[in-house]
Amino acid sequence: MSEIVLAVREACADALALLLPVSCAGCDEPDVALCERCVLALAPDPRQQVIEVHGGAVTVWSGIPFEGVAARVLRAIKEDGRTSLAAALAPALTAALARAGAADAVPVPMPTSRGAYRRRGYRVPDLLVRRTGRRPRRLLRYARRTSDQRGLDRDARARNVAHSLAAVDAAGLRVVVVDDVVTTGASLAEAVRALRAAGADVVAAVAVAATPRRLPTGR
Ligand SMILES: [Zn+2]
Repeated sequence: MSEIVLAVREACADALALLLPVSCAGCDEPDVALCERCVLALAPDPRQQVIEVHGGAVTVWSGIPFEGVAARVLRAIKEDGRTSLAAALAPALTAALARAGAADAVPVPMPTSRGAYRRRGYRVPDLLVRRTGRRPRRLLRYARRTSDQRGLDRDARARNVAHSLAAVDAAGLRVVVVDDVVTTGASLAEAVRALRAAGADVVAAVAVAATPRRLPTGR
């Protein structure tokens, strides 16, 4: 689907949201999409973690911990169609991209499953990249089906996603992989593997938010 069609679908989702009674996505304060206090709670607080990937470890930078207001806002974007809130997370993603040294790398979003795309009508990682003013390049595809990662432990997650992705048109490109949330990093590691296999130079991986318990390496 073209970028224009995607932009129109996102605009329609935004317009629909305007017709409904609104409350703060972070704290339920009425009549505001995101209150000032919750905007402040989304201030970037970049962290890094290192994930092991065949061919060399990769650093994952995240912009903000996945908890509290950030977790609620991401859920509102993903599950309630409140796509306009993605702008509020742009500073966190921009900070992660900057710390990753990926300012000039091509942002490659994690692919969205067909089911999730049908349900939402938009791709969350792509939407978040566009709100930073960058153009996502969808170079990753699912090579096979995977199970839901929720409820799986670290090893099971890695097994579930192993060789599940393939990259196209990536040869010779300097890329950064982008996702909305990083938990164990298993999905990002698989994306890095697939991009390297297709000849890309992967600078880093970044996520808007990271599950806090997975952040042992500090800032
Ligand atoms: Zn609020």
